[in-house]
Amino acid sequence: MMLLSMRALVSTKPESVEFAELPDPVPGPEEVVVAPRTLGICGTDVKVLKGSIPARRPLVVGHEAVGVVIESGPDTTLEPGTRVLIDPASSCGKCDICRRGKPHLCRNAGLMGREIDGVWAERVVVPEHRLVVIPEDVSPVAAGVLQVLGTVVHAQRQVDVFPGQTAVVIGLGVSGQLMVQLLALRGVRVLGITRSAWKREMAERLGATATSSPDEAADLVAEATSGRGPELVVEAAGTEQTLAQAIDLAGVGGQVLVFGTLGSGGQGLPYYQLYFKELTVHNPRAALIHDYEIGVSLAGRLQLEPIVTHRIPFDRAPQAFDLVEEPSSLKVLLEVT
Ligand SMILES: [Zn+2]
Ligand SMILES: [Zn+2]
Repeated sequence: MMLLSMRALVSTKPESVEFAELPDPVPGPEEVVVAPRTLGICGTDVKVLKGSIPARRPLVVGHEAVGVVIESGPDTTLEPGTRVLIDPASSCGKCDICRRGKPHLCRNAGLMGREIDGVWAERVVVPEHRLVVIPEDVSPVAAGVLQVLGTVVHAQRQVDVFPGQTAVVIGLGVSGQLMVQLLALRGVRVLGITRSAWKREMAERLGATATSSPDEAADLVAEATSGRGPELVVEAAGTEQTLAQAIDLAGVGGQVLVFGTLGSGGQGLPYYQLYFKELTVHNPRAALIHDYEIGVSLAGRLQLEPIVTHRIPFDRAPQAFDLVEEPSSLKVLLEVT
């Protein structure tokens, strides 16, 4: 039997990543081999590379991929050539959390590109049940945003909003721009907050009613809500300062959706306000396969392409880590040809 190999981007130690030749994956009975076509990068990948998020090594990096089925195990139904989104999180199906119906919080979970080999490779093997078929009308560029969209859908399904209510989104990066659009789609009036003028402009084009810098946020929110405060504040920047601002801006009886990932703090939060306003704090993590299905079915009603600011060939994958940290970038995609 001839042994075939493929190229993958591998990190053997923190801060270091390079292409390596790995054996071609062979699918098990219920598995499928996917050839990624569009790969995404986000803050998680950067933190894994730098070592601030613990990860297994050596590791094939990356967790955001859409690709094409090229080989299917005997017990699968997806035809070769089918375009799919990969749910990058594995779950055991056996632990108490899985059995409680929350497999995305599984005690034995693994994320591709963190605990298990990732998707920045020419071929990836995945259980068929972790794939979502992408309809033809979703463009390749828009498809590159679908994994993040799934996590944003997962977060928004936890909040209780109604058309006519007001939400504030703090942080207008990739997930912030998606939050703005999903809330607008739900009939909610959205106020967007960020220091970046061009990201404010983009949010207004994509559905925000008004935007401001963080310094002017309190005035904007007071004016837009006649001093009552919004029903929902989404924190999508991931700092203690912005979480504190989210709590400050929330209306009495409101909700705070903590979407940015905070590892630690130090300055403290407005704890008394959490209590006094009887705020509900949501802390969504990861996503269910159903969240990805919803995201895929919504793709045609959202503007996903403007969120993609950089598309580079897979050969230049190591550079993506620098690009994604630049202030001029939102979504950075790698294209495999
Ligand atoms: Zn990501
Ligand atoms: Zn489990």
